[in-house]
Amino acid sequence: MEARKIFLREDEMPRQWYNILADIKMNPPLGPDGKPITPDALAPVFPMNLIEQEVSTERWINIPEPVMNILRIWRPSPLVRALSLEKALGTPAKIYFKNESVSPPGSHKPNTAVAQAYYNKEFGIKRITTETGAGQWGSALSFACSQFGLECKVFMVRVSFDQKPYRKSMMAAWGGKCVASPSNETKAGRDALQKDPNTPGSLGIAISEAIEAAVTDESGETRYSLGSVLNHVMLHQTIIGLEAKKQFEKIGVYPDIVIGCAGGGSNFAGIAFPFVLDKINGKKIEIYPVEPAACPTLTKAPFVYDHGDTARYTPLLPMHSLGHAFVPPPFHAGGLRYHGMAPTVSQLVMEGLIEPKAVTQLDAYKAGIITTRSEGMIPAPETNHALACVIDEALKAKAEKKEKVILFNWSGHGLLDLMAYDKYLSNQLSNFELSEAEMLASEKVFADFPKPAIIKSR
Ligand SMILES: *Cc1c(COP(=O)(O)O)cnc(C)c1O
Repeated sequence: MEARKIFLREDEMPRQWYNILADIKMNPPLGPDGKPITPDALAPVFPMNLIEQEVSTERWINIPEPVMNILRIWRPSPLVRALSLEKALGTPAKIYFKNESVSPPGSHKPNTAVAQAYYNKEFGIKRITTETGAGQWGSALSFACSQFGLECKVFMVRVSFDQKPYRKSMMAAWGGKCVASPSNETKAGRDALQKDPNTPGSLGIAISEAIEAAVTDESGETRYSLGSVLNHVMLHQTIIGLEAKKQFEKIGVYPDIVIGCAGGGSNFAGIAFPFVLDKINGKKIEIYPVEPAACPTLTKAPFVYDHGDTARYTPLLPMHSLGHAFVPPPFHAGGLRYHGMAPTVSQLVMEGLIEPKAVTQLDAYKAGIITTRSEGMIPAPETNHALACVIDEALKAKAEKKEKVILFNWSGHGLLDLMAYDKYLSNQLSNFELSEAEMLASEKVFADFPKPAIIKSR
Protein backbone atom coordinates (compact mmCIF):
# COMPACT_ATOMS: atom_id res chain seq x y z
CA MET A 1 0.00 0.00 0.00
CA GLU A 2 1.31 3.43 -0.97
CA ALA A 3 0.89 5.96 1.83
CA ARG A 4 -1.21 8.97 0.93
CA LYS A 5 -0.08 11.18 3.78
CA ILE A 6 3.26 11.70 5.51
CA PHE A 7 2.86 13.20 8.96
CA LEU A 8 5.21 14.84 11.42
CA ARG A 9 4.53 14.72 15.13
CA GLU A 10 4.05 18.08 16.84
CA ASP A 11 7.39 17.66 18.60
CA GLU A 12 9.08 17.20 15.19
CA MET A 13 8.01 20.62 13.93
CA PRO A 14 10.88 22.90 12.81
CA ARG A 15 11.74 25.30 15.63
CA GLN A 16 13.44 27.92 13.43
CA TRP A 17 12.51 29.82 10.27
CA TYR A 18 14.95 30.00 7.33
CA ASN A 19 16.02 33.53 6.37
CA ILE A 20 17.10 33.72 2.73
CA LEU A 21 18.73 37.13 3.31
CA ALA A 22 21.67 35.19 4.78
CA ASP A 23 22.30 33.69 1.33
CA ILE A 24 21.52 36.41 -1.24
CA LYS A 25 22.48 40.05 -1.62
CA MET A 26 19.70 42.58 -2.19
CA ASN A 27 19.16 46.15 -3.34
CA PRO A 28 18.01 48.18 -0.29
CA PRO A 29 14.52 49.73 -0.06
CA LEU A 30 14.70 53.49 -0.75
CA GLY A 31 13.03 56.41 1.03
CA PRO A 32 11.45 59.49 -0.58
CA ASP A 33 14.93 61.08 -0.86
CA GLY A 34 16.15 58.17 -2.98
CA LYS A 35 18.49 56.99 -0.16
CA PRO A 36 18.25 53.62 1.61
CA ILE A 37 15.66 53.90 4.38
CA THR A 38 16.66 53.51 8.00
CA PRO A 39 14.74 51.17 10.33
CA ASP A 40 13.61 54.27 12.30
CA ALA A 41 11.71 55.57 9.28
CA LEU A 42 9.46 52.49 9.46
CA ALA A 43 8.80 52.78 13.21
CA PRO A 44 5.37 54.46 12.86
CA VAL A 45 4.25 51.65 10.53
CA PHE A 46 5.60 48.43 12.07
CA PRO A 47 6.71 47.43 15.59
CA MET A 48 10.51 47.58 15.96
CA ASN A 49 10.88 43.84 16.67
CA LEU A 50 9.40 43.07 13.23
CA ILE A 51 11.50 45.80 11.57
CA GLU A 52 14.60 44.13 13.04
CA GLN A 53 13.44 40.82 11.60
CA GLU A 54 12.80 42.51 8.22
CA VAL A 55 16.48 43.54 7.93
CA SER A 56 18.06 40.55 9.72
CA THR A 57 20.65 38.49 7.85
CA GLU A 58 20.77 35.66 10.43
CA ARG A 59 20.21 32.39 8.55
CA TRP A 60 18.07 30.71 11.22
CA ILE A 61 15.60 32.58 13.44
CA ASN A 62 13.94 30.93 16.45
CA ILE A 63 10.16 30.60 16.35
CA PRO A 64 8.86 31.92 19.70
CA GLU A 65 7.08 29.30 21.81
CA PRO A 66 3.72 31.22 21.94
CA VAL A 67 3.75 31.26 18.11
CA MET A 68 4.54 27.52 17.96
CA ASN A 69 1.71 26.92 20.38
CA ILE A 70 -0.89 28.52 18.10
CA LEU A 71 0.58 27.09 14.88
CA ARG A 72 0.05 23.67 16.47
CA ILE A 73 -3.74 24.20 16.16
CA TRP A 74 -3.30 22.94 12.57
CA ARG A 75 0.44 22.30 12.08
CA PRO A 76 2.42 20.32 11.14
CA SER A 77 0.39 20.24 7.93
CA PRO A 78 0.32 16.91 6.09
CA LEU A 79 2.53 16.18 3.08
CA VAL A 80 0.11 14.46 0.72
CA ARG A 81 0.83 12.16 -2.20
CA ALA A 82 -1.68 13.02 -4.95
CA LEU A 83 -2.08 9.35 -5.97
CA SER A 84 -5.51 9.89 -7.54
CA LEU A 85 -4.33 12.85 -9.61
CA GLU A 86 -1.32 10.80 -10.77
CA LYS A 87 -3.68 8.01 -11.82
CA ALA A 88 -6.05 10.42 -13.61
CA LEU A 89 -3.08 11.78 -15.60
CA GLY A 90 -1.53 8.35 -16.16
CA THR A 91 1.83 9.81 -15.27
CA PRO A 92 4.87 8.05 -13.84
CA ALA A 93 5.61 11.29 -11.92
CA LYS A 94 5.13 11.26 -8.16
CA ILE A 95 3.12 14.31 -7.14
CA TYR A 96 3.22 15.58 -3.55
CA PHE A 97 1.71 18.66 -1.94
CA LYS A 98 1.74 20.46 1.38
CA ASN A 99 -1.87 20.95 2.39
CA GLU A 100 -2.04 24.49 3.78
CA SER A 101 -5.84 24.59 3.43
CA VAL A 102 -6.23 22.91 6.84
CA SER A 103 -5.67 26.12 8.86
CA PRO A 104 -8.71 27.78 10.51
CA PRO A 105 -9.04 30.48 7.79
CA GLY A 106 -8.25 27.89 5.10
CA SER A 107 -4.94 29.08 3.64
CA HIS A 108 -1.21 29.47 4.34
CA LYS A 109 -1.71 33.11 5.44
CA PRO A 110 -2.09 32.50 9.20
CA ASN A 111 1.52 31.20 9.32
CA THR A 112 2.64 34.84 9.23
CA ALA A 113 -0.53 36.41 10.71
CA VAL A 114 0.06 34.54 13.97
CA ALA A 115 3.74 35.55 14.09
CA GLN A 116 2.97 39.18 13.29
CA ALA A 117 0.18 39.39 15.89
CA TYR A 118 2.58 37.92 18.46
CA TYR A 119 5.39 40.44 17.76
CA ASN A 120 2.93 43.37 17.82
CA LYS A 121 1.52 42.17 21.15
CA GLU A 122 5.07 41.78 22.56
CA PHE A 123 5.82 45.37 21.53
CA GLY A 124 2.76 46.68 23.38
CA ILE A 125 0.56 47.31 20.32
CA LYS A 126 -3.22 47.11 20.86
CA ARG A 127 -4.64 47.40 17.35
CA ILE A 128 -3.54 46.27 13.87
CA THR A 129 -4.75 47.69 10.56
CA THR A 130 -4.50 45.94 7.22
CA GLU A 131 -6.02 45.65 3.76
CA THR A 132 -7.57 42.67 2.07
CA GLY A 133 -8.58 41.85 -1.51
CA ALA A 134 -10.88 38.86 -1.64
CA GLY A 135 -10.69 38.54 2.15
CA GLN A 136 -8.15 35.74 2.72
CA TRP A 137 -5.62 37.94 4.47
CA GLY A 138 -8.22 39.92 6.42
CA SER A 139 -9.68 36.71 7.79
CA ALA A 140 -6.24 35.26 8.61
CA LEU A 141 -5.22 38.39 10.53
CA SER A 142 -8.60 38.57 12.31
CA PHE A 143 -8.09 34.97 13.45
CA ALA A 144 -4.52 35.69 14.64
CA CYS A 145 -5.52 38.90 16.46
CA SER A 146 -8.30 37.03 18.27
CA GLN A 147 -5.69 34.55 19.55
CA PHE A 148 -3.65 37.37 21.12
CA GLY A 149 -6.48 39.70 22.22
CA LEU A 150 -5.65 42.42 19.68
CA GLU A 151 -8.09 44.61 17.74
CA CYS A 152 -8.04 44.14 13.98
CA LYS A 153 -9.23 46.70 11.43
CA VAL A 154 -9.49 45.58 7.79
CA PHE A 155 -9.92 47.77 4.69
CA MET A 156 -11.50 45.47 2.11
CA VAL A 157 -11.50 46.29 -1.61
CA ARG A 158 -15.03 47.53 -2.44
CA VAL A 159 -15.95 44.99 -5.18
CA SER A 160 -15.05 42.07 -2.95
CA PHE A 161 -16.78 43.67 0.04
CA ASP A 162 -19.98 43.74 -2.00
CA GLN A 163 -19.58 40.45 -3.85
CA LYS A 164 -17.94 38.19 -1.24
CA PRO A 165 -19.90 38.43 2.00
CA TYR A 166 -18.65 35.21 3.60
CA ARG A 167 -15.03 36.16 4.27
CA LYS A 168 -16.43 39.33 5.87
CA SER A 169 -18.53 37.07 8.08
CA MET A 170 -15.42 35.10 9.06
CA MET A 171 -13.65 38.32 10.06
CA ALA A 172 -16.67 39.34 12.15
CA ALA A 173 -16.79 35.90 13.80
CA TRP A 174 -13.17 36.39 14.95
CA GLY A 175 -13.96 39.95 16.10
CA GLY A 176 -12.26 41.80 13.22
CA LYS A 177 -13.76 45.08 11.98
CA CYS A 178 -14.06 45.29 8.20
CA VAL A 179 -14.92 48.39 6.12
CA ALA A 180 -15.20 48.82 2.36
CA SER A 181 -12.26 50.59 0.69
CA PRO A 182 -12.09 53.34 -0.43
CA SER A 183 -13.69 54.58 2.80
CA ASN A 184 -14.33 58.03 4.24
CA GLU A 185 -12.06 57.27 7.18
CA THR A 186 -8.76 58.23 5.51
CA LYS A 187 -7.45 60.94 3.21
CA ALA A 188 -6.32 58.31 0.69
CA GLY A 189 -9.86 56.90 0.71
CA ARG A 190 -11.59 60.28 0.45
CA ASP A 191 -9.31 61.28 -2.45
CA ALA A 192 -10.13 58.06 -4.32
CA LEU A 193 -13.88 58.56 -3.73
CA GLN A 194 -13.69 62.15 -4.92
CA LYS A 195 -12.03 61.04 -8.15
CA ASP A 196 -14.66 58.35 -8.70
CA PRO A 197 -17.55 57.87 -6.26
CA ASN A 198 -18.35 54.52 -7.88
CA THR A 199 -14.81 53.14 -7.88
CA PRO A 200 -14.55 49.36 -7.32
CA GLY A 201 -11.42 50.04 -5.22
CA SER A 202 -8.06 48.29 -5.53
CA LEU A 203 -5.49 46.56 -3.34
CA GLY A 204 -3.14 49.53 -3.85
CA ILE A 205 -5.73 52.00 -2.48
CA ALA A 206 -6.65 49.72 0.43
CA ILE A 207 -2.97 49.41 1.43
CA SER A 208 -2.71 53.21 1.43
CA GLU A 209 -5.78 53.48 3.68
CA ALA A 210 -4.55 50.87 6.15
CA ILE A 211 -1.07 52.46 6.44
CA GLU A 212 -2.61 55.91 6.90
CA ALA A 213 -5.01 54.65 9.57
CA ALA A 214 -2.07 53.16 11.51
CA VAL A 215 0.36 56.08 11.34
CA THR A 216 -2.25 58.79 12.09
CA ASP A 217 -3.61 57.08 15.22
CA GLU A 218 -2.45 59.40 18.02
CA SER A 219 -2.52 56.75 20.75
CA GLY A 220 0.68 55.29 19.24
CA GLU A 221 -0.78 51.84 19.93
CA THR A 222 -1.73 50.99 16.33
CA ARG A 223 0.50 49.45 13.67
CA TYR A 224 0.01 48.18 10.14
CA SER A 225 0.46 44.62 8.88
CA LEU A 226 1.09 43.27 5.38
CA GLY A 227 0.26 39.68 4.40
CA SER A 228 2.90 39.14 1.72
CA VAL A 229 5.81 40.82 -0.16
CA LEU A 230 7.99 41.77 2.85
CA ASN A 231 11.04 39.79 3.95
CA HIS A 232 9.63 38.88 7.38
CA VAL A 233 6.45 37.50 5.78
CA MET A 234 8.51 35.22 3.50
CA LEU A 235 10.51 34.19 6.58
CA HIS A 236 7.42 33.14 8.57
CA GLN A 237 6.13 31.04 5.68
CA THR A 238 9.31 28.94 5.40
CA ILE A 239 7.91 26.57 7.99
CA ILE A 240 5.97 25.02 5.07
CA GLY A 241 9.07 23.97 3.11
CA LEU A 242 11.05 23.08 6.23
CA GLU A 243 8.30 20.68 7.32
CA ALA A 244 8.13 19.25 3.80
CA LYS A 245 11.88 18.51 3.85
CA LYS A 246 11.56 16.62 7.14
CA GLN A 247 8.56 14.69 5.78
CA PHE A 248 10.48 13.74 2.61
CA GLU A 249 13.44 12.62 4.74
CA LYS A 250 11.13 10.17 6.52
CA ILE A 251 10.36 8.39 3.24
CA GLY A 252 13.75 8.87 1.59
CA VAL A 253 12.43 11.04 -1.24
CA TYR A 254 13.68 14.39 -2.59
CA PRO A 255 11.78 16.50 -5.15
CA ASP A 256 13.02 17.23 -8.69
CA ILE A 257 10.58 20.14 -9.11
CA VAL A 258 9.04 22.57 -6.60
CA ILE A 259 6.02 24.69 -7.62
CA GLY A 260 3.97 27.42 -5.94
CA CYS A 261 1.58 30.09 -7.20
CA ALA A 262 2.82 33.66 -6.76
CA GLY A 263 0.75 36.75 -5.96
CA GLY A 264 2.90 38.72 -3.53
CA GLY A 265 5.19 35.68 -3.30
CA SER A 266 4.70 34.38 0.24
CA ASN A 267 3.23 30.89 -0.18
CA PHE A 268 5.73 30.24 -2.96
CA ALA A 269 8.57 31.48 -0.76
CA GLY A 270 7.24 29.33 2.06
CA ILE A 271 7.50 26.08 0.18
CA ALA A 272 10.44 27.02 -2.06
CA PHE A 273 13.07 28.96 -0.08
CA PRO A 274 14.31 25.97 1.97
CA PHE A 275 14.86 24.15 -1.35
CA VAL A 276 16.52 27.24 -2.88
CA LEU A 277 19.07 26.92 -0.05
CA ASP A 278 19.79 23.35 -1.19
CA LYS A 279 20.10 24.56 -4.79
CA ILE A 280 22.58 27.25 -3.70
CA ASN A 281 24.50 24.43 -2.00
CA GLY A 282 24.67 22.42 -5.22
CA LYS A 283 21.47 20.32 -5.40
CA LYS A 284 19.91 19.89 -8.82
CA ILE A 285 16.30 21.05 -8.54
CA GLU A 286 13.87 23.09 -10.66
CA ILE A 287 11.83 25.74 -8.84
CA TYR A 288 8.84 27.47 -10.48
CA PRO A 289 6.72 30.37 -9.21
CA VAL A 290 3.46 30.47 -11.22
CA GLU A 291 1.49 33.64 -11.87
CA PRO A 292 -1.65 34.57 -13.82
CA ALA A 293 -1.05 35.50 -17.46
CA ALA A 294 -3.38 38.49 -16.88
CA CYS A 295 -1.09 39.92 -14.15
CA PRO A 296 2.33 38.82 -15.46
CA THR A 297 4.70 40.42 -12.99
CA LEU A 298 7.70 38.03 -12.98
CA THR A 299 7.33 36.79 -16.54
CA LYS A 300 6.79 40.12 -18.32
CA ALA A 301 7.29 43.18 -16.10
CA PRO A 302 10.73 44.79 -15.66
CA PHE A 303 12.85 44.61 -12.48
CA VAL A 304 12.66 48.17 -11.12
CA TYR A 305 12.23 50.29 -8.03
CA ASP A 306 8.51 50.92 -7.41
CA HIS A 307 6.06 51.59 -4.60
CA GLY A 308 4.01 48.81 -3.05
CA ASP A 309 0.82 50.92 -2.95
CA THR A 310 -1.13 53.38 -5.11
CA ALA A 311 -0.78 56.44 -2.83
CA ARG A 312 3.01 55.85 -2.71
CA TYR A 313 3.22 55.64 1.09
CA THR A 314 5.55 52.62 1.01
CA PRO A 315 9.31 52.86 0.37
CA LEU A 316 10.59 52.09 -3.13
CA LEU A 317 11.10 48.33 -3.34
CA PRO A 318 13.39 46.53 -5.83
CA MET A 319 10.99 44.18 -7.60
CA HIS A 320 9.30 43.21 -10.83
CA SER A 321 6.40 45.64 -11.18
CA LEU A 322 3.55 46.43 -13.55
CA GLY A 323 3.36 49.91 -11.99
CA HIS A 324 1.90 50.95 -8.62
CA ALA A 325 -1.27 52.32 -10.25
CA PHE A 326 -1.92 49.11 -12.23
CA VAL A 327 -5.43 47.72 -11.77
CA PRO A 328 -5.42 44.10 -12.95
CA PRO A 329 -8.28 42.77 -15.08
CA PRO A 330 -11.09 41.14 -13.04
CA PHE A 331 -9.91 37.50 -13.24
CA HIS A 332 -11.01 35.19 -10.44
CA ALA A 333 -7.97 34.63 -8.23
CA GLY A 334 -8.06 37.60 -5.85
CA GLY A 335 -4.84 36.62 -4.07
CA LEU A 336 -2.83 36.90 -7.30
CA ARG A 337 -3.98 40.37 -8.32
CA TYR A 338 -0.97 42.40 -7.18
CA HIS A 339 1.14 44.75 -9.33
CA GLY A 340 4.48 43.92 -7.68
CA MET A 341 6.33 40.97 -6.16
CA ALA A 342 8.33 40.14 -3.05
CA PRO A 343 11.82 41.64 -3.58
CA THR A 344 13.41 38.34 -2.44
CA VAL A 345 11.47 36.35 -5.07
CA SER A 346 12.36 38.95 -7.73
CA GLN A 347 16.04 38.75 -6.76
CA LEU A 348 16.02 34.93 -7.10
CA VAL A 349 14.61 35.30 -10.62
CA MET A 350 17.37 37.81 -11.45
CA GLU A 351 19.94 35.30 -10.18
CA GLY A 352 18.48 32.49 -12.28
CA LEU A 353 17.77 30.31 -9.22
CA ILE A 354 14.05 30.08 -9.96
CA GLU A 355 12.15 30.15 -13.26
CA PRO A 356 8.75 31.91 -13.39
CA LYS A 357 5.79 30.58 -15.40
CA ALA A 358 2.45 32.15 -16.33
CA VAL A 359 -0.87 30.36 -16.87
CA THR A 360 -4.23 31.59 -18.17
CA GLN A 361 -7.42 31.68 -16.12
CA LEU A 362 -9.05 28.91 -18.17
CA ASP A 363 -6.03 26.60 -17.88
CA ALA A 364 -5.98 27.24 -14.13
CA TYR A 365 -9.66 26.32 -13.62
CA LYS A 366 -9.33 23.32 -15.94
CA ALA A 367 -6.51 22.06 -13.73
CA GLY A 368 -8.62 22.78 -10.64
CA ILE A 369 -11.49 20.65 -11.93
CA ILE A 370 -9.19 17.74 -12.93
CA THR A 371 -7.82 17.85 -9.38
CA THR A 372 -11.25 18.19 -7.72
CA ARG A 373 -12.51 15.16 -9.62
CA SER A 374 -9.49 13.04 -8.69
CA GLU A 375 -8.18 14.19 -5.28
CA GLY A 376 -11.65 15.27 -4.13
CA MET A 377 -10.76 18.54 -2.44
CA ILE A 378 -11.71 21.82 -4.16
CA PRO A 379 -8.61 24.05 -4.44
CA ALA A 380 -8.51 27.84 -4.12
CA PRO A 381 -8.41 29.62 -7.52
CA GLU A 382 -4.85 30.73 -6.65
CA THR A 383 -3.79 27.12 -6.03
CA ASN A 384 -5.24 26.22 -9.44
CA HIS A 385 -2.43 28.25 -11.03
CA ALA A 386 0.16 26.04 -9.35
CA LEU A 387 -1.87 22.99 -10.39
CA ALA A 388 -1.87 23.98 -14.06
CA CYS A 389 1.94 23.96 -13.95
CA VAL A 390 2.03 20.70 -11.94
CA ILE A 391 -0.18 18.93 -14.49
CA ASP A 392 1.96 20.31 -17.32
CA GLU A 393 5.12 18.91 -15.71
CA ALA A 394 3.45 15.59 -14.90
CA LEU A 395 2.37 15.17 -18.55
CA LYS A 396 5.86 16.10 -19.71
CA ALA A 397 7.23 13.38 -17.43
CA LYS A 398 4.70 10.98 -18.98
CA ALA A 399 5.84 11.85 -22.52
CA GLU A 400 9.47 11.42 -21.48
CA LYS A 401 8.69 8.28 -19.39
CA LYS A 402 10.47 9.82 -16.40
CA GLU A 403 9.59 9.19 -12.77
CA LYS A 404 9.94 12.83 -11.65
CA VAL A 405 9.07 13.87 -8.09
CA ILE A 406 6.98 17.04 -8.08
CA LEU A 407 6.19 19.05 -4.94
CA PHE A 408 3.69 21.90 -4.85
CA ASN A 409 1.94 24.04 -2.27
CA TRP A 410 -1.83 23.64 -1.88
CA SER A 411 -2.13 27.21 -0.64
CA GLY A 412 -5.84 27.16 0.24
CA HIS A 413 -9.28 25.67 -0.28
CA GLY A 414 -11.86 27.06 -2.69
CA LEU A 415 -14.98 26.66 -0.57
CA LEU A 416 -15.61 30.41 -0.54
CA ASP A 417 -14.85 30.76 -4.25
CA LEU A 418 -17.63 28.58 -5.59
CA MET A 419 -19.20 31.42 -7.59
CA ALA A 420 -16.11 31.47 -9.78
CA TYR A 421 -16.27 27.67 -10.20
CA ASP A 422 -19.94 28.03 -11.20
CA LYS A 423 -18.94 30.55 -13.85
CA TYR A 424 -16.18 28.32 -15.17
CA LEU A 425 -18.47 25.28 -15.35
CA SER A 426 -21.13 27.27 -17.24
CA ASN A 427 -18.56 28.64 -19.73
CA GLN A 428 -18.80 32.21 -18.45
CA LEU A 429 -15.08 32.65 -17.78
CA SER A 430 -12.63 33.82 -20.41
CA ASN A 431 -8.94 34.70 -20.61
CA PHE A 432 -7.59 38.22 -20.31
CA GLU A 433 -4.68 39.27 -22.48
CA LEU A 434 -2.65 42.27 -21.47
CA SER A 435 -1.46 44.18 -24.54
CA GLU A 436 2.05 45.58 -24.90
CA ALA A 437 0.51 49.06 -25.07
CA GLU A 438 -1.38 48.58 -21.77
CA MET A 439 1.77 47.35 -20.07
CA LEU A 440 3.89 50.22 -21.36
CA ALA A 441 1.26 52.72 -20.18
CA SER A 442 1.01 51.24 -16.67
CA GLU A 443 4.81 51.08 -16.36
CA LYS A 444 5.28 54.82 -17.00
CA VAL A 445 4.83 55.55 -13.27
CA PHE A 446 8.32 54.33 -12.33
CA ALA A 447 10.21 55.78 -15.31
CA ASP A 448 11.87 58.49 -13.19
CA PHE A 449 12.68 56.35 -10.14
CA PRO A 450 16.25 55.14 -9.46
CA LYS A 451 17.12 51.77 -11.04
CA PRO A 452 18.14 48.77 -8.93
CA ALA A 453 21.57 47.21 -9.51
CA ILE A 454 21.74 43.80 -11.19
CA ILE A 455 23.28 41.75 -8.39
CA LYS A 456 24.75 38.24 -8.61
CA SER A 457 25.23 36.98 -5.08
CA ARG A 458 27.86 34.41 -6.10
C1 LIG B 1 -3.26 35.14 -0.81
C2 LIG B 1 -3.22 33.82 -1.43
C3 LIG B 1 -2.24 33.48 -2.39
C4 LIG B 1 -1.26 34.43 -2.97
O1 LIG B 1 -0.51 35.18 -2.10
P1 LIG B 1 1.07 34.95 -1.94
O2 LIG B 1 1.54 36.07 -1.11
O3 LIG B 1 1.67 34.96 -3.30
O4 LIG B 1 1.20 33.65 -1.26
C5 LIG B 1 -2.22 32.18 -2.87
N1 LIG B 1 -3.12 31.27 -2.46
C6 LIG B 1 -4.08 31.56 -1.56
C7 LIG B 1 -5.06 30.50 -1.18
C8 LIG B 1 -4.15 32.85 -1.02
O5 LIG B 1 -5.10 33.13 -0.12
